[in-house]
Amino acid sequence: MNPRTTGVATEPGYTILENAALEGRNTFRVPARAEILIDVRRPEALAEVLAIPYVRNNPLLILGGGSNLLFTRDWSGTVVSVATHDIRIADDHGPAALVRVESGENWNEFVHWSLSHGFVGLENLVLIPGSVGAAPIQNIGAYGREVSQFIAVVEAWDRQAARLVQLDNASCRFAYRDSLFKHAPDRYVITAVEFLLPREGELRTDYAGIAEELVAMNCAATAATVAEAVARLRTRKLPNPALIGNAGSFFKNPVVAATVALELQREHPALPTWSAAEGARKISAAWMIEACGLKGARDGDAGVSDQHALVLVNHARATGAQVWALAQRVQAKVFERFGVMLEPEPIIV
Ligand SMILES: Cc1cc2nc3c(=O)[nH]c(=O)nc-3n(C[C@H](O)[C@H](O)[C@H](O)COP(=O)(O)OP(=O)(O)OC[C@H]3O[C@@H](n4cnc5c(N)ncnc54)[C@H](O)[C@@H]3O)c2cc1C
Repeated sequence: MNPRTTGVATEPGYTILENAALEGRNTFRVPARAEILIDVRRPEALAEVLAIPYVRNNPLLILGGGSNLLFTRDWSGTVVSVATHDIRIADDHGPAALVRVESGENWNEFVHWSLSHGFVGLENLVLIPGSVGAAPIQNIGAYGREVSQFIAVVEAWDRQAARLVQLDNASCRFAYRDSLFKHAPDRYVITAVEFLLPREGELRTDYAGIAEELVAMNCAATAATVAEAVARLRTRKLPNPALIGNAGSFFKNPVVAATVALELQREHPALPTWSAAEGARKISAAWMIEACGLKGARDGDAGVSDQHALVLVNHARATGAQVWALAQRVQAKVFERFGVMLEPEPIIV
């Protein structure tokens, strides 16, 4: 088979598309094309797909829900989308269970599955877009929780060793919006994630308005009501990618030495900071962007959201290159005023 000459080819377990449009496959909804796009529907087909000579010898990008990347150009090579589905309890210990989830499952649907099966822990991570397979990549986090707290094992196809590997939690080197996988994008294709989910556990309600939302809802804190409170907060605060293209927070909150944070706070007493690793503090990127007068700024159809300064948006027909140019303008302004370089959270392609 020569994928270069194939328009559409459906094989058992996967489909190949040539010169495929990616606009509908990224939440920024910017235009881009892939020379070859392969949707892998069956786990056992992945090794076969990765062994196709064209795939092996050309650049490869793995795509989930496209909610954490920005296409600034077409992809000359192969884009592989892992569209495998299954959720099952692999091992039940009573107070906790090991739950195996295939990469193509939708993250938010899995959170709801976990709640409806009586597990606690993932409620603060409700409504984060994207796939389960991508969740470990940047160690998704929100409202005081990170997914790494619940990951037992990540199963991945190791392209270097050409075999499936099981990486335990420590091997994944999880950190704030970071993991081993972010540093080895050409090595691992995540095929499944095993979560260790407790049936009882402490709820996290002390973060960013959850407790107040529960009071407004007139509800006691349970995993289900915390999820509902977080969903309401997120819906109010974040622009909905179904209505306006975006990839959530475009910049990470910078982690700086505690002494630097203190100095910045002396100059800007309202700058919010949070504790991070020992001797370090996380500072608010949104606050700094807003202080530079950039909330709601617009360069053509590329904009900084007027709802949340950390979110860049595509008002209608922006290209990825235009969004990236605006991001660089934001970085330059924040650096000029605060001496801090903002780091993008999405992958820039
Ligand atoms: C409105 C909105 C809100 C958001 N809120 C949050 C939030 O609160 N917290 C948070 O952490 N993130 C948030 N995000 C970012 C995003 O939802 C997450 O990072 C999510 O995990 C990305 O999943 P995806 O399937 O869309 O990944 P993609 O965007 O498709 O891919 C992201 C990266 O992962 C790689 N990748 C994807 N799947 C695999 C795989 N199976 N194997 C190997 N590599 C893979 C890709 O190559 C790419 O480098 C938000 C995004 C949006 C649009």
